[in-house]
Amino acid sequence: MSEQGHKQRQQKLKEKVDARIEAAQQEKGLLLVITGNGKGKSTSAFGTVARAAGHGLKCGVAQYIKGTWACGERDLLSQHGVDFHVMSTGFTWDTQDKTADTQAAQQIWAACQAMLADDRYDLVVLDEITYMITYDYISLDEVIDALQQRPSEQSVIITGRGAHRRLVEIADTVSEVRNVKHAFDAGVKARQGIDW
Ligand code: ATP
Ligand code: MG
Repeated sequence: MSEQGHKQRQQKLKEKVDARIEAAQQEKGLLLVITGNGKGKSTSAFGTVARAAGHGLKCGVAQYIKGTWACGERDLLSQHGVDFHVMSTGFTWDTQDKTADTQAAQQIWAACQAMLADDRYDLVVLDEITYMITYDYISLDEVIDALQQRPSEQSVIITGRGAHRRLVEIADTVSEVRNVKHAFDAGVKARQGIDW
C-alpha cells in the first residue's frame, strides 16, 4: 500500500475510534464475568485488582476455592490494603461433605454481601463463585439480588467456569477464556508463580 493509502486508511480508523469514544458517555461501576475452560480467569481478576489498587481504589476479594494453599497474589495484595475472605475449610474437588462445604460457602457469602452493600469498596472480586452456584451452595437469586442492589459506582468481577446464563445476561463485560492447550495435560506440574 502507498504511503498516501496508509495515511487515509489510518485517518478513517481514527475517526471511527474517536466517534466510539465520544459515544461512550455512561459512567458506572461494571459487572465483569470471566468464564471458560482456559487458564487466565483468576489471574485476569487479580491483574485488575492490582490495577485498581495502584490507583488507590479500595478492593475486596472473596476466594471460594483455593483456601488451603498460599497464593502469591493474596500475599502481595493484602499488603496493599486489599481485603481477602477465603473459604476456611479449603474447598477442593474431593470434598465429600456437602453440609460442611455449604456452611463454609455461606460464611464467605455473608462477607461478600457485606462488601456488595458497602460503597467504600470500588472493586469486589468473587473468585470461583460460579462453582458455588452450580453446586447450589449459594443461591443464584441471592447473588443476582446483591449484584443488582450494589452501589452504582462499585465494580464486580466474577470468575469461574460455566457462569450461569443469568449472570452473563446482567453483566456489562463478559470474556470467555478458551483452552487451546494447557501444560498440565502434557504432564507438567502446576508451577509456583504461574499457577498459584
Ligand atoms: P489462573 O488462576 O491460572 O488464572 P483460572 O482461574 O483460569 O487459572 P481455574 O479453573 O480457576 O482457572 O484453575 C485453577 C488452577 O488450574 C490454576 O493453577 C490453573 O493453572 C489450572 N488450570 C486452569 N485451566 C486449566 C486447564 N484448562 N487445564 C488444566 N489446568 C488448568
Ligand atoms: Mg480461577
